[in-house]
Amino acid sequence: MKFASRLVQFDSAPGDPCRPMATPIYQVSTFEQEKADAFGAYDYSRSGNPTRRVLEDQLASLENGSRGFCFSSGMAAISTVTRLLRAGDEILADFDLYGGSCRLFAEVLPRSGITVRYGDACRPEFAALITPRTKLIFVESPTNPLLRVLDLRALAGLAHAHGAWLCVDNSTMSPYLQNPLDLGANIVLHSATKYLCGHSDVTAGAVIVKDDDLAAQIYFLQNAEGTALGPFDSFLLLRGMKTLKLRLDCQQQNALAVAQYLASHPGIQEVHYPGLASSAGYELQCHQARGAGAVLSFTTGSPELSLRITEQTRLFHICVSFGSVHSTICMPVRMSHASVPHELRALRHLPDDLVRISVGIEDAGDLLADLSLGIGGSTIGATSATRT
Ligand SMILES: *Cc1c(COP(=O)(O)O)cnc(C)c1O
Repeated sequence: MKFASRLVQFDSAPGDPCRPMATPIYQVSTFEQEKADAFGAYDYSRSGNPTRRVLEDQLASLENGSRGFCFSSGMAAISTVTRLLRAGDEILADFDLYGGSCRLFAEVLPRSGITVRYGDACRPEFAALITPRTKLIFVESPTNPLLRVLDLRALAGLAHAHGAWLCVDNSTMSPYLQNPLDLGANIVLHSATKYLCGHSDVTAGAVIVKDDDLAAQIYFLQNAEGTALGPFDSFLLLRGMKTLKLRLDCQQQNALAVAQYLASHPGIQEVHYPGLASSAGYELQCHQARGAGAVLSFTTGSPELSLRITEQTRLFHICVSFGSVHSTICMPVRMSHASVPHELRALRHLPDDLVRISVGIEDAGDLLADLSLGIGGSTIGATSATRT
């Protein structure tokens, strides 16, 4: 089956004699056992819950993995992956990472004797940063907020040549647009809060793997640390994911219209969006993914102008997050990346005037008209968009 079909054609309630078309919410902590020494499929929801299991199996399927695991947040998912390491081990990461990941790496992992090195994973010199202690290469692609595209197949080769794992945070793409396990990654993770949910009403994370031994380790950690996603949030995610393709198709189309409008506007300096044929990552993105997504960023040359745009738009709500049906706008240096440690911010050269946009499912003409209010000047392109 093609992806669109797989999103809705799956067993939503395995073994349920009522054959419901949506997954029931097993709002249950404890399951009765038949006998003192005879265990059923479920005994305690920290260890396993039927609603969460349907979600986990569906995510494993969508990412072409063998097992999926859902957590109370994207950060809990990332934290769990780092628990695979031991004192003395190192992580090698690309420098353009989600702010919360940088905070975890800088302020929590050192307590367990794990160190993190950063480099530019777009450059060949990145390989020289690997040491015999490197156990994990950790990246996002396209990166956020600079939308750099990393060669995931090459990074998987690099990791494996040194006996390390490649973990890809696939939150900006979702399994609809990119499947890192197919490109050689060992672990793929999501902040399911973003595109998988898509409606700004759940905080959740997911880890998907192919390898049985890794699956057993992740399952052990999920149960031992008690970080699994609850039944109601699992239900909401299952509900949201059914429209993943519909939402992203529309969001991507809108994002391209916004990117083209910005790229053609004299008041805008640089537009970062791998869906623009002129962008550095375009070719690679076409090879390893099925679309460019709906997150983009741009600079104006002036932090004041960027602030004005951010504050004057009315359809783009000022929010730290992305991936929802609503359009959002933020200034990463002031908002989502304020938690990035100082040294790392210098390495990243995040421009003060950088504006990041997450494009929603609104009418494209409305979005362009709204953006042009803040930027000033014409609303080129708005006329060709549908208005209803
Ligand atoms: C939001 C985000 C996270 C963290 O996820 P939460 O669900 O907020 O804990 C991790 N990685 C990326 C790329 C994100 O955008």
